[in-house]
Amino acid sequence: MNLTTSASLFREAQRFIPGGVNSPVRAFKSVGADPVFIRKAAGPTITDADGNSYIDYVGSWGPMILGHCHPQVVSAVQKAVETGSSFGAPTELEITLAEMVVQAVPSIEMVRMVCSGTEATMSAIRLARGYTGRDKILKFSGCYHGHADSLLVKAGSGAATFGVPDSPGVPADFAKHTLTAEYNSLESVKALIQQNPGQIACIIVEPVAGNMGTVPPAEGFLQGLRAICSNEGIVLIFDEVMSGFRVAYGGAQELYGVTPDMTTLGKIIGGGLPVGAFGGKKEIMQMLSPAGGVYQAGTLSGNPLAMTAGIETLKLLQQEGFYAKLEEKSAYLATGIAQAAHDAGYPIFSTRVGSMFCAFFTKGEVKDWNTAAACDTKMFAKYFLLMLEEGIYLAPSQFETAFVSISHTEKELDKTISAARKAFKAL
Ligand SMILES: *Cc1c(COP(=O)(O)O)cnc(C)c1O
Repeated sequence: MNLTTSASLFREAQRFIPGGVNSPVRAFKSVGADPVFIRKAAGPTITDADGNSYIDYVGSWGPMILGHCHPQVVSAVQKAVETGSSFGAPTELEITLAEMVVQAVPSIEMVRMVCSGTEATMSAIRLARGYTGRDKILKFSGCYHGHADSLLVKAGSGAATFGVPDSPGVPADFAKHTLTAEYNSLESVKALIQQNPGQIACIIVEPVAGNMGTVPPAEGFLQGLRAICSNEGIVLIFDEVMSGFRVAYGGAQELYGVTPDMTTLGKIIGGGLPVGAFGGKKEIMQMLSPAGGVYQAGTLSGNPLAMTAGIETLKLLQQEGFYAKLEEKSAYLATGIAQAAHDAGYPIFSTRVGSMFCAFFTKGEVKDWNTAAACDTKMFAKYFLLMLEEGIYLAPSQFETAFVSISHTEKELDKTISAARKAFKAL
């Protein structure tokens, strides 16, 4: 495969951009390679600067559930840009998307739009602290909630990939308010609550963990968190930046039937443009400025192009049978890859929730950060490069989720399974 243009672009990029990328996981560092520079995409396919095409399972890290460049989204955004790309004043589009979100997500009665998932979780936590008058927050090891100071503690993927779960620049005085429990362990949560009685403002959790690979919630885990939070007056926040509109239209809370107090969204809600959102009970959301005193703002929040992409994307997701079809494709692919590994005598632990899936390079069960971290990341790196060589673009880290889009057809899925067969045999 010829990657000379990507290689020279990467050299150039490193002169002007730290590490040559605008987000660390793009750098391919954990698989010991240089990143592929992308020129364009369509449907399930992305094409790099040298003209190589790949079947894409990164999907911009989650947003592209329709595949790239869905014609309905493209044409709506084109029309929108002709009538103004930003006003810094309210528009009807914001009401439309807000109403769609309220109707979709069980826990959300009111919602505020922001520009990224990071902003959504950061703001949700401030609001939970303002609402409860408490300072401490509880998160789970291996869960990623964006790069805000208080959340960059034991934060999975990007951070884990680089072996710096706690970043320099995060004051110890901030991080000390963040308590860390083990995913899928209610016992670890109860112990922390006992040690910090009446001090915890919120528990924030990925209801399907997607930033340490894909780790589904154990039976009763989310229900247990719900009960604990109700008893203790703790705000339960589901970070559905990845799982929202992904594992079901109403997110993991619809799928598992557990309703948090607040929810954060991102990725799919922007249809490929920068959007995040946080919402929840009216009683909590009304405390947000200018209705209440908890401050939060954004110059480009509710941007008309981004709202348009979100609205059109959500409309398409509402089509009859969309999620059933996506489930079918995803099950076919994940099963096919697991079978390929099995047939080659190569041990992997395969996980999947809807169109999120992961092949963990380990013999043991993966249920939390410690069991995920036990994976053979060197072998994963080899697998990743073999797949890339076969024209399959996976996330360049063991601790990421693969995403299937509705645009992946049997042809692409079969090609991917064949590539996996070849790769597992070669390992
Ligand atoms: C991606 C992600 C974020 C951060 O969103 P950004 O838009 O990258 O800031 C937060 N939480 C979860 C669960 C995510 O997957």
